[in-house]
Amino acid sequence: MVFGVAGVPTNYKGKFAGVFPWLKDMGLNGFEIQCTYGFKISEDRQEIIKKMQNEGFYFSMHAPYYINLGSLNNAVVGRSKSNMKEGIELAKSLGINRIIFHPGGGHDNTEEGRIRAINQLVDAVNEFTSEIDMGDVRLYPEIGGKTASLGSLDEIIEICKRCKFCYPCIDIAHLHAREIGSITTKEVLKEKLTKIKNAIPEKFKYIHFHAYTINYGDKGEIKHLKHGENMPDGSAGMPNLDDFVAVLKEMNIEPWVVSEALDTQELSAKYMRDLYVKS
Ligand SMILES: [Zn+2]
Repeated sequence: MVFGVAGVPTNYKGKFAGVFPWLKDMGLNGFEIQCTYGFKISEDRQEIIKKMQNEGFYFSMHAPYYINLGSLNNAVVGRSKSNMKEGIELAKSLGINRIIFHPGGGHDNTEEGRIRAINQLVDAVNEFTSEIDMGDVRLYPEIGGKTASLGSLDEIIEICKRCKFCYPCIDIAHLHAREIGSITTKEVLKEKLTKIKNAIPEKFKYIHFHAYTINYGDKGEIKHLKHGENMPDGSAGMPNLDDFVAVLKEMNIEPWVVSEALDTQELSAKYMRDLYVKS
């Protein structure tokens, strides 16, 4: 069971090493390293990360946002492939086995354009993963939050089917946003997860979640909400995290859940963790 945060929470003021005892006091044991500007982690931090793994912390790594394996621009795809290889080497050296990445985009947002982009991404991933020793590292394409971004539920399933090293990163908020508010009930969420389980059962065991609530419009994601914050129209922020925890239990899913709630990820992660433990 892993419940944790994405990057150092804004509510934490202090040195990097101190964030782990701070999280641990809240019952949290997960930390997604945000490699926003590149797969670079200072030596000092690398030492801290290794030490904290021995103390029961679980780390995943989020690839830089400029990685775009679905781009129309060949130079961007080429750079993204070599960046991913660097990230895999870094993860291996730290004993981290989950790297989350955005499928990206750039092709026409038509059925044909999206098929081309997915084919290109699948080829790119299969190419660079065959060129290096992957060790225990798994790659997690993430559900995209905007209707135009690559990474619908079906696309993530397809990538995972066609790429040996890809596993699903299900950002339930992005899924809700890109489908313009689809996760209205616990049953809907359960149906979506069941679809993944049936399609890629052997990979489903290693599913990775991002869970929080989100504001969205007709183009999908607008903004992550704070934990407990309402939508601008006053309605409750969705997807409902109680339902999410209930589905984890009902489906016997081993949770690895990272909260990306705006400025409150530790509160939202703690909320889900406490609910999971007591239910
Ligand atoms: Zn992401």
